Amino acid sequence: TILTPNSPTAELQALDAAHHMHPFTHGAGLRGKGARVITRAEGCWLTDSDGNRILDGMAGLWCVNIGYGREELAEAAARQMRELPFYNTFFQTTHVPAINLAARLAELAPGDLNHVFFAGSGSEANDTNLRLVRTYWHEKGQPERQVVISRWNAYHGSSVGSGSLGGMKGMHAQGGMPIPGIAHIDQPDWWSAGGDQSPEDFGLAMAKQLEDKILEIGPDKVAAFIAEPVQGAGGVIVPPETYWPEISRIVKEYGILLIADEVICGFGRTGNWFGSQTMGITPDIMTIAKGLSSGYQPIGGSILSGEVARVISDTEFNHGYTYSGHPVACAVALENLRILDEEGIVTRVREDTGPYLKNKFESLADHPLVGEAKIVGMMGSIALTPEKAARAPFAAEAGTVGLITRERCFANNLVMRHVGDRMIISPPLVISKEEIDILIERAWESLDEAH
Ligand code: PLP
Repeated sequence: TILTPNSPTAELQALDAAHHMHPFTHGAGLRGKGARVITRAEGCWLTDSDGNRILDGMAGLWCVNIGYGREELAEAAARQMRELPFYNTFFQTTHVPAINLAARLAELAPGDLNHVFFAGSGSEANDTNLRLVRTYWHEKGQPERQVVISRWNAYHGSSVGSGSLGGMKGMHAQGGMPIPGIAHIDQPDWWSAGGDQSPEDFGLAMAKQLEDKILEIGPDKVAAFIAEPVQGAGGVIVPPETYWPEISRIVKEYGILLIADEVICGFGRTGNWFGSQTMGITPDIMTIAKGLSSGYQPIGGSILSGEVARVISDTEFNHGYTYSGHPVACAVALENLRILDEEGIVTRVREDTGPYLKNKFESLADHPLVGEAKIVGMMGSIALTPEKAARAPFAAEAGTVGLITRERCFANNLVMRHVGDRMIISPPLVISKEEIDILIERAWESLDEAH
């Protein structure tokens, strides 16, 4: 049997449970109730197999920036599939969609970030980056520069390389990660750290960890530092204002490469094309994926500075994926970038709907269950707490209240994700003010029910 979106929910769930393994999902959580089956979507709204309409506060997985249901992207994919459904970009060949997309990204990216190495996903792109920075230093005559410094609780992907770059201890506990040559420092998470330091001093102290780590390893052994401008999957950690200027000073002083993971922050999420612009960072490499195609096609990549590209081009970089620069994905991404630009979506987030959402979202901090509420552009988080003044976490049952709140949101037809004691949002960038009102109302109601 081939089921359809109109098949009964019970049948869909039964076949799903029989054969489908879900990422990041404990089987016990699904047993007895089955997965929620999403069948259609339009704008910011999902429809499930029972006909419920659900407001998607997470843009899928932080990626459907232009919203669901854009015919132009379907047309771009169909056109490209008819013309050239696949060809590779290996061994001295290229094709039109890869040429155009690389050139467009070079135009959009800040500074001299002007070359693109394509991948099929963010994980693949970060694997590329890991090998790329080490190869870069090898070619520069400093082959001992091999260590990449990252941050605990960071998410940079699920492959062995990118998962090692990440700092998720639960992931490291399974299957042989991290691989050697990767070091971690703490996140600038002022709220969760507690204590009586001001956010500014705390930001400086967290940045200083990078300098300490470089000195501990030996400055001539460090290849790069990788971080998201605003950390996403670990709970949307907005750094104190002192953090990035100090990090920038340190990477410059020790001459190490800076990789900005823009997989979430890129393509308008923070109110600029890239989170690096919002945070005032000048990276040597940016990781991109997700919003690049608004999730309509799997595609990722690394945008390299002219200098990094030049050094790498002086050798053969023995690396690439069958789907590096997949023509259909490139064509869809180009069309997505056209829409983001021509419809002024990034500008609207920065100047209009972003500030509107910020105002409403920060009011959630008045809820008795909420400690801080922080948001940049359209990525935000609230910290749940039993005791606001003490910035206390739910010690023993960490994550439980978050899980309950998420379930209440789901029951109220709002997708909001929970990470430990934080609830996070990252809606489609096309969300309207009316929809923002609905999002905040439903979040408040769900918090009431979880309280
Ligand atoms: N980097 C960041 C910051 C991410 O949030 C993610 C995915 O959530 C990735 C990398 C991995 O991307 P992908 O899931 O496309 O492999």
